[in-house]
Amino acid sequence: MAQLQTKTVKPETKRTSVTDRLSRRILSQALEQTADIVMITDVSGNIEYVNHAFENCTGFSLTEVLGQKPNLLRSGKHNDIFYSKLWDTIRRGDVFRGVIENRRKDNSIYYEEKTITPLIDDNGVITNYVSTGRDVSENILTQSRLRHLAYCDILTGLPNRVQLRHELSQAISHAERHNESLAVLFLDLDRFKNINDSLGHDLGDRLLRDVAHRLRHTLRNDDTIARNGGDEFVILLRGPVDENDVVRVAEKLFNSLTAPFILDGQKHQVSASIGISLYPQDHVTMRDLLKGADIAMYQAKGQGGSRYCFYSHDMEVRVLERMELEQCLQRGITNNELFNVYQPQYELSSQRLIGAEALLRWHHPKMGYISPDRFIPVAEDTGDIITLGERVLSEACRQLIKWRQKGLILPHISVNLSPRQLSHPNISSKVSETLIETGLEPDALVLELTESALMQHPEQAARSLNKLKSIGVRLSVDDFGTGHSSLSYLRRFPLDCIKVDRSFVQDLPNNKEASALVEAIVKMAHSLSMSVVAEGVETDEQLEFLQQTGCEGAQGYLLGRPMSANDFASQQRY
Ligand code: C2E
Ligand code: MG
Ligand code: MG
Repeated sequence: MAQLQTKTVKPETKRTSVTDRLSRRILSQALEQTADIVMITDVSGNIEYVNHAFENCTGFSLTEVLGQKPNLLRSGKHNDIFYSKLWDTIRRGDVFRGVIENRRKDNSIYYEEKTITPLIDDNGVITNYVSTGRDVSENILTQSRLRHLAYCDILTGLPNRVQLRHELSQAISHAERHNESLAVLFLDLDRFKNINDSLGHDLGDRLLRDVAHRLRHTLRNDDTIARNGGDEFVILLRGPVDENDVVRVAEKLFNSLTAPFILDGQKHQVSASIGISLYPQDHVTMRDLLKGADIAMYQAKGQGGSRYCFYSHDMEVRVLERMELEQCLQRGITNNELFNVYQPQYELSSQRLIGAEALLRWHHPKMGYISPDRFIPVAEDTGDIITLGERVLSEACRQLIKWRQKGLILPHISVNLSPRQLSHPNISSKVSETLIETGLEPDALVLELTESALMQHPEQAARSLNKLKSIGVRLSVDDFGTGHSSLSYLRRFPLDCIKVDRSFVQDLPNNKEASALVEAIVKMAHSLSMSVVAEGVETDEQLEFLQQTGCEGAQGYLLGRPMSANDFASQQRY
């Protein structure tokens, strides 16, 4: 804050004639009335004079300070070296210039931009020191406020990304010089967008502040934690650190978030994903370290969140591919590159068409067809599946009505519902709105839910299924046999149909285990009053076996591939 600047001043004898012409009264009035703070001391530093501006600024009166030393204004903010340099300068006969942080009579701090000039008589001897100055507190405070704003995140009080980059670059230089390691952790809250959307931004902000507070207090003082923006925090662990140390810190950070956050009297559970990159093993530049940790964080999120991942090069390749796919999908949705196809389902006893399953297709203008097995999981993670699923549903319902208007007899249309859709609080009202809008009767709609989606959160799934059932739609378990269902849950879910997974059907009828399993599934379904549809039927032998087991329905390339709505209509018998 204080700067020392010195300049030698020589006594000027020629000026005397001019000053002699001015009356002493004017000179002393100038001193008294000037807006600058003036203090005159003797050579030993005893105060002999202060003006009005001094009194106004410091709160000390002339009589209080006479004979005292200027150190009665000391704030303690400058050390002894500072004062001894000041005295050395003026005792040499040089001028001191600098900003001094002083203390007023009421103990408040002010900043004085000061010049101290030694008064030298005709013999070249210093007789007094004259200090003149200005109170520059306002400027200094504005400057420091601006500095604070530039380097600090206003919401959380943590360093912001600018300060983070500054500290990280210093830490890298230090680690380089001392052959040390360091770790960069990217921490991002899981599903914060949902919290923010449902609670509103004020409570979302409160949550971020509380999270920041807990994280900060979990770390040591010499670790840096900064807010990188949104719900993303970056932690810098200075070396030496190895993987075990970092794991311990990551676990401490997770633990700090386990207790619920109370917002507006409500408890909220928050989890986070952490990506880690290490200097120098993974990367040596700031940019790469940050990018590496970001990629690892993305990977941790992709694996379901609430976990940490260390960066690796292979991961980077995978993640970048996946990010590209995400961006393409976003564009694809906007540009209407996705559409429904329909695969027929037949009743085995009568060989009549009983339904069609709507399946989503994506034709990318450059990459061509992209399989739903690739893009559905992406849409599930990004949340795009909600919009996509709604489109598939309303399009499928509308399509069934259109086909019927053309005279096609088709009792059911099946639509796949993703786990994310099933756990969405509005799912049943969305479905019933769609039915009303399209004019389709509820029991013509079959919603297919994979076994694993049902078993992820069985209690929650049961609640959603009951609501959907109360609308009157039919419910079916998809890919049955792949998701470790608990039979007791299966009994409690209001299901109408089981779809036997293709992996069992493809081994029929020669593989004994597959045959026994399919027979058992059909028996079990019937005992629970559910019907069975076999997926992926490709051969006559499979079809025959399924007919013999009493399986009600079949779907597969043998009977019809997924096709456009027009092809579907033209291939069916009316
Ligand atoms: P899924 O619901 O089990 O759909 C059946 C899949 O089996 C479809 O694959 C279908 O084309 C394929 N398939 C049907 N018959 C045969 C056959 O005889 N042989 C073989 N090898 N395959 C057959 P697709 O269309 O690639 O869809 C894959 C998965 O993607 C679907 O499995 C479903 O889980 C998901 N998916 C597709 N569309 C949607 C959608 O609109 N919403 C949601 N949430 N998921 C969808
Ligand atoms: Mg399906
Ligand atoms: Mg299936």
